[in-house]
Amino acid sequence: MTEHEQSPLAIDIDFGNLTLLKEACRDWAIRKTFEFKTVRATKTRYEIVCKQEGCPWRLYARSIGEADNIFRIIKYNGDHECFGLMHTGHKQATAKFIASWILPKLKQQPDHRPSAMVIDFKTEFGIDIEYSKALRGKERALEMIHGTFEDAYKAMPQYCGDIEATNPGSIASLELTSDNQFKCVFISFGASAMGFAHCRPLIGLDTKAFFLLLLQLMLWVNYSRSHML
Ligand SMILES: [Zn+2]
Repeated sequence: MTEHEQSPLAIDIDFGNLTLLKEACRDWAIRKTFEFKTVRATKTRYEIVCKQEGCPWRLYARSIGEADNIFRIIKYNGDHECFGLMHTGHKQATAKFIASWILPKLKQQPDHRPSAMVIDFKTEFGIDIEYSKALRGKERALEMIHGTFEDAYKAMPQYCGDIEATNPGSIASLELTSDNQFKCVFISFGASAMGFAHCRPLIGLDTKAFFLLLLQLMLWVNYSRSHML
């Protein structure tokens, strides 16, 4: 197996931080269908080798600034002597990778199903992923798009304040439990509240309510007659 010219991995290539370097390695391993194992991963050193015993593919990078800062690839052998994957799964096909892979699609199609993701992943990479992992990847991607529920609840006080500050006459009241958890929120937009002042009072009766009213009226008439006699 020989490296493709467009490989993002080469000696003297810099990455903004260790996370970006790891993502590039994982992405490349999946696209070239081989797995790697980590020899060491510290705040200043990162070394991986092909998972197949005896294969010379390896990468060594180290931080060139402060810890967890820019990482530079110092040594790199991009040639394999192995036969690639001997199974259909992939060690580097994590939920995190699946999330970043499916992210653009979910922005256009949020209801895209995990079962379809399993098929698409197999088609694109030739790799099997479990339904549960596809589901975790989708959940993670949706969090990247919309934020987590925790983030949304944390933003509630600010949201209520913004409503009152930007909508004159509005009331946004947040109620919390004794242990500072969300309980409920009451929101009344000023424009809607003022609109009610111009509504005409109206009593509506549906068929059931009308007959109930009629029955009560008849009972009252009979009662009145019996007491008049
Ligand atoms: Zn290899």
